[in-house]
Amino acid sequence: MGSILHIIGALVAIWVYNDAKKFGHSMTVALLWAAGSIIMVPIFFPAYLILARKQVMKSNRNLEEVTIEIDAEFVENTVDCPMCGRKVKEDYKLCPYCGFTLKPTCNKCGMELERDWKVCPTCQTSVTGK
Ligand SMILES: [Zn+2]
Ligand SMILES: [Zn+2]
Repeated sequence: MGSILHIIGALVAIWVYNDAKKFGHSMTVALLWAAGSIIMVPIFFPAYLILARKQVMKSNRNLEEVTIEIDAEFVENTVDCPMCGRKVKEDYKLCPYCGFTLKPTCNKCGMELERDWKVCPTCQTSVTGK
């Protein structure tokens, strides 16, 4: 009985090893699952099917989502610097390329101001053009 289980274990181990690599696991992880399958097929084989296959597929999907989010953020939140014309993030206070002041701040209260404002709307201090 024990020897049959070992033969099945060896066959399963080979399949698990190849399958794990196909699913993007490293060689070490694939070997660990294969070794586990040789020792305890009834435990490691179902565990492999449930845990290992799901895990890699899930992490691949997360990676795609993150990449898309980064792209969207880059497209949405950039403006052209009026001085040098290069793309800068919308929330930058000044252009990192040429040092042009994109968003002046009020000298008195520190409020963020638009470039063409003459007076700070919060504390009514007149804005001296920088
Ligand atoms: Zn610039
Ligand atoms: Zn102010």
